[in-house]
Amino acid sequence: MFNQKLQKLGTEHSAIRELFEYGLARKKEIGEENVFDFSLGNPNVPAPACVTEELLRLIGEMPPEKLHAYSSAVGLKEVRAAIAQYIQSSFGVPMSEDLIFMTCGASASLVSVLSALLLPEEEVIVPAPYFPEYALFIEQAGGKMVPVPTDEKFHLDLHAIERAITERTKAILINSPNNPTGAVYTKGELEGLAALLERVNTTRKEPIFLLSDEPYRELCYGEKPTFPMVVYPHTVVLYSFSKVISLPGERIGYVAVSPACYHAQELFFAVRGAARYHGYVCAPTLFQRVVADCQGVTSDLEVYRRNRDLLYGALSDMGYSCTVPEGAFFLFVKALEPDAKAFCARAKKHELLLVPSDSFGTKGYVRISYCVKGETVERSLPAFRALFEEYNG
Ligand code: PLP
Repeated sequence: MFNQKLQKLGTEHSAIRELFEYGLARKKEIGEENVFDFSLGNPNVPAPACVTEELLRLIGEMPPEKLHAYSSAVGLKEVRAAIAQYIQSSFGVPMSEDLIFMTCGASASLVSVLSALLLPEEEVIVPAPYFPEYALFIEQAGGKMVPVPTDEKFHLDLHAIERAITERTKAILINSPNNPTGAVYTKGELEGLAALLERVNTTRKEPIFLLSDEPYRELCYGEKPTFPMVVYPHTVVLYSFSKVISLPGERIGYVAVSPACYHAQELFFAVRGAARYHGYVCAPTLFQRVVADCQGVTSDLEVYRRNRDLLYGALSDMGYSCTVPEGAFFLFVKALEPDAKAFCARAKKHELLLVPSDSFGTKGYVRISYCVKGETVERSLPAFRALFEEYNG
């Protein structure tokens, strides 16, 4: 007998992974170029040159026993110092390396921070639609996820957030640029959220924490997003290099606790403890060293911009209803029938692999992950047209 809950979780897979696996099998059957796989956020743009250069330099210059050695549990001191320096110079926040914890990507950051923060039954407000794994990560930490719908453009609805706050609210977890909608929260919006939290905090013993999950931070088509520590002190940033420099398989990211955060040092110790508890100590050392020198760099954002413009323009012209993504590499499109799963099943017949919005906590939409080759987008357009005509012909 095994843990039944976990066995079920492992048996089910996520809806996205299932579709991705289907896509792999289907490509073998009918040829890669004939399947339009928009399922996974697996960047198709190569990592920037600094990654390869730094890898080659490290392999050439460092003795292997040093290169591949354990780092301290929190990560290499010089790497954490480089990240603190980057945050300080880019965003003007006096960041300390002692409040940076290197992790195996945003997932490990989320699990560690949520486990560190949450007491049983405490609530985490999550604007919906949201990254599906949030539900699991909050549940495993013993907390309760409270989804709050965003507005019609998928931006924060501050009134709805205020209504959702209770005395059990421990944190609000935001993700901008957003997966699955591509929304990027404005400075004004974050200031509004900060003002709301500050106002509520005056009635509480402990503040509400702002958790900012930022694996798409630099993938923005317009203005750079505001760094949330600038507007609100009780902030924890969860960063990942998976998307921005196309390193999802290398599992590297970090947690940064704002020095101005309530009991920052104790919280940081709890994050360290949580990571230890979950076996997440010592993020890959080779890639700790690599990312230290590649901060603020992105993979070729123009590829994503071209895909975005082509897809958004063509789908809007065809008659689909979608909001233009301001960042990340996802287009969130209204399904052509109320049941997004049924719509995706019909899309699949046209070899279009789209993710229904149900697992993102919203009904009636699909997510198109356009971190694919430009020609895949171009070749997929007749299939999108045929699908539209099937409903409107
Ligand atoms: N958070 C969001 C919003 C994501 O989209 C993802 C991955 O798709 C993650 C976290 C997990 O990222 P990582 O690969 O760094 O664990």
